[in-house]
Amino acid sequence: MKIVVLKFGGTSVGTIKRIKKVSNIIVSYVKKGFKVIVVSSAMSGSTNDLIKKSKNISKNFNSSEYDVLVSSGEQISCALIAGRLNHIGYKSQSWMSWQVPIFAEGDHKTSRISKINKNKITDYLKSGGIPVITGFQGLNNNNRITTLGRGGSDASAIMFAKFFKAKKCIIFTDVEGVYTTDPNKIKNAKKIRIISYEEMLEMASLGAKVMQPHSIQDARLNRIKIDVKSSFVNRPGTIITKRKNINRKRTITGLTSTKNDAKVTLVGVKDKPGVAASVFKPLSQNYVNVDMVVQTSSSTNRETDITFTIKSEELPKTVKLIKQNTKIKYRDLLINKNVSKVSIIGVGMITTPGVTYRMFKTLADNGINILVISTSEIKISVLISKKNIKKALSALHKEFKLNS
Ligand code: ASP
Ligand code: MG
Repeated sequence: MKIVVLKFGGTSVGTIKRIKKVSNIIVSYVKKGFKVIVVSSAMSGSTNDLIKKSKNISKNFNSSEYDVLVSSGEQISCALIAGRLNHIGYKSQSWMSWQVPIFAEGDHKTSRISKINKNKITDYLKSGGIPVITGFQGLNNNNRITTLGRGGSDASAIMFAKFFKAKKCIIFTDVEGVYTTDPNKIKNAKKIRIISYEEMLEMASLGAKVMQPHSIQDARLNRIKIDVKSSFVNRPGTIITKRKNINRKRTITGLTSTKNDAKVTLVGVKDKPGVAASVFKPLSQNYVNVDMVVQTSSSTNRETDITFTIKSEELPKTVKLIKQNTKIKYRDLLINKNVSKVSIIGVGMITTPGVTYRMFKTLADNGINILVISTSEIKISVLISKKNIKKALSALHKEFKLNS
C-alpha cells in the first residue's frame, strides 16, 4: 500500500469553511492513488479554552481528567472532517486513540506514543476508507486517555508514518513552511526549502513554533521525511530530512528568538567546590529546567556570581526554592524577565571558522549587550535585552546573508 499521512493543525481546521477545504486536500491525495491516513489537531483555540475551563474548576485539576478534557477538541474536528468526506462521497470514519488503539507511556500531559496497533486501520484502509485520527492523545497502561504535550498531534502524525511505513508525512499548517526567522518580526525572512532534523530540532526548541520539538526527534530517530506546508495555499513548503540529502552553501540556516525566558542571578556566593551543585540540586529535583548558565568569579574576595536562565513561568517556583535553600548563602538575588534568547542555527558552522566572532561583532556594532552565551555544535545562543530582539534578528539575518 502506498500510504501517506496528512496532519492538519488547529488553524487548518479552525472553521467549517477550512474543514471543507481540508477535505478537498485529502481527496486530492486519494485521487493521486494514495491510501490516506488523516491526523488532526483540535479546531484552533479549543484546546486553550478547555484548559481554561479546567483551571476554573480547580487549580489542582486531576491530571487524568485533564487529559480526557483537553483531548476532546480533537474528537470534534475529526468527526467534522470525516462527516465532510462522507458528504462529498468518500468512505471515512473518525477514530479516537483508544479505538485504534494508540498506546502511550509516561506521565499525563507529557506522554509519548510507544506503539500503534495496525490491524483495524490497515483493514479499514484496504476497504477503501479514509481514517481520520485524533492527534494529541493516546491510551496509557491504566486504560486512561493521556496527552502528548502541547502541539502533540505532530508527534501522532510522525508515529503513524513510522508504524505504517508511510511514503510521506505532510504537516499542514497556517504558514508556508519553516522560515529563516519569524516573518512576523523580519520582513526579509525567507522560506527554507530543505532543513536537517538537527537544525529543525534546534529551531523548534529555540522558539520557531512550526512543529513540536519531540515530534522532530521522533522523526529523526525513525528517519521519516517530513513535508511542512500550508493548507491555505498550494505551494512547495519545507522538507525536513537528514543532513546527507542537503547541499547548502550557507553557514547559518536560521535565526530564532524566545519571549518567555527569565534570568536569575545569585550575587556573591562562596567560590568553593559544590556551591553550584547546591544551587541547582533542588531545582532539578523539582523539575525546573535550567537553560543557560554562567559563573563569574571575582578575584578579590573569593566570591562568585551565578547567573542562569529558566522559562518565565518557572520563576515563582525557582525563587521560592532558592529562598528555601539553606545550603547556600548569597548577598543578593536579581531577577530579569525582560530578556530574550537569540540564536543562530546551522550545520554549516561546524566547518566554518569565525561564526562566533561574526555574531558577537554584529551585535556589538549595533550596540547590543550580551548577557549570557551558550553554544552547541550547530547553534550559538545569546541572551539579550528584549527590546533589542528585532534589531538583533535583522542585523544577524543580514550578516549571515539570509536576506537573499
Ligand atoms: N490541540 C493540541 C494543542 O493545542 C494538540 C496540537 O495542536 O497539536 O496543543
Ligand atoms: Mg498545533
